[in-house]
Amino acid sequence: MTKFQDLGLSDDVLKGITEQGFEEAFPIQEAAIPVLLSGRDVVGQAHTGSGKTAAFALSMLQEIQPKKGIQGLVMAPTRELAMQIADEIKKFGKYTGLKVATIYGGQGMGIQLDTLHRGVEILVATPGRLIDHLKRGSIELRDISHIVLDEADTMLDMGFIDDIQFILDLAPENRVMSLFSATMPTQILRLSEDYLNNPKQFLLDADDLSGEGIDQSFLVIKDRDKFKYLLDFLKPVKGQCIVFCSTKYRTRDVQKFLHQEKYDAVAIEGDMSQHRREQSMAKFRNGKADILVATDIASRGIDVPRVELVVNYDVPNVEMVYFHRIGRTARAGAEGKAVTFVSYSSVGDWNLIKRQIKVPIKDLNQEMGIQISIPDPLKRQTSSRRYGGQSRSGYSRGGGRSGGYGRSRDDRGGSRKRTDDKDNRNSYGGRSRW
Ligand code: ADP
Ligand code: MG
Repeated sequence: MTKFQDLGLSDDVLKGITEQGFEEAFPIQEAAIPVLLSGRDVVGQAHTGSGKTAAFALSMLQEIQPKKGIQGLVMAPTRELAMQIADEIKKFGKYTGLKVATIYGGQGMGIQLDTLHRGVEILVATPGRLIDHLKRGSIELRDISHIVLDEADTMLDMGFIDDIQFILDLAPENRVMSLFSATMPTQILRLSEDYLNNPKQFLLDADDLSGEGIDQSFLVIKDRDKFKYLLDFLKPVKGQCIVFCSTKYRTRDVQKFLHQEKYDAVAIEGDMSQHRREQSMAKFRNGKADILVATDIASRGIDVPRVELVVNYDVPNVEMVYFHRIGRTARAGAEGKAVTFVSYSSVGDWNLIKRQIKVPIKDLNQEMGIQISIPDPLKRQTSSRRYGGQSRSGYSRGGGRSGGYGRSRDDRGGSRKRTDDKDNRNSYGGRSRW
């Protein structure tokens, strides 16, 4: 393991890291930081919870000068993630004198304009709101020297790509740019060549989509039995838990149920007001709530170290989402568990995901002796919708199996155009399906 001191970081930055209790650099940090400091573009893939934020933030903090305009731009798919990244950059950069602004939809423009007027050097933004600022002239990108796309595969996916293109066109060509994500499908890697200049690629465990280090299990049950089983799985949990549901309605229902059962559960989904979203996340982060019931709005990037269990109350309908969801536990080398409830109608979708899991996964039906009695045997088979003409996701740049990635197959197929609906059109943003 390498010490941060050996990566060429300045004392100011090192002081900030030490204060966070970081002693040794994680592999992606060790790999990416010196290259970014040398001014070369980077593509960084490393599993969930492996320290990618510091991997891109530290070089930026070192290279950017105070009081010389907005020089750093980090883009992320959700408001919650943008806020989290900004908080982390502020902590790392405590001794650099640099100021960070978070630019996201749902918050009043006034607050953001005030922050911008006071002068900032680094922006952490969701694309929609950033574009609003660019259009009204309250943000200019002419001094940008460092750009990061976090959760890059989502950012370069259909829902965001036009926005990203619009934003990048306004930034100087001579910039250091990096892409980071736990999942980096080949078609995204190919696409990245359009945006990056001879990048150094670090694909640390790209072939190992396993959720390694996470104790994974699944249970095939009737949909109506899920809540009863959820309570059973929650009983032994001492830390915190995230329950992922497929829709906003189910998210709300499960949160209500849990509340009735006297659990401290909060919910987060795209239809909630920004104020309530922030309230829920704050309660969960500071441990006032034990359970977060969420749509996939919380599946990417969210780092809450005490999360001990992830429950997939519903099977995700895009394979890679599974690995991001379960990656909310076992952060930074900790231990964690993930259980997936598979309703009879989701067996096909689940089989597709299960095939990609490279570590042993527990079959709880066998272990607990729970019979599966699916009346229609066809439903046991792999869903064909993912491949065939019925898929409306339209995302097929690379073709092949991973072609369904990024957008659930039954929505947003035709909704890629920008509207005036600010952040809401994006998959993780406001008034989405989630
Ligand atoms: P990723 O973006 O790869 O999912 P994060 O950047 O969110 O991971 O980091 C996951 C957790 O690991 C965070 O809580 C972060 O504070 C912690 N962390 C990151 N780097 C280090 C390090 N070098 N030493 C100790 N903890 C670290
Ligand atoms: Mg991250």
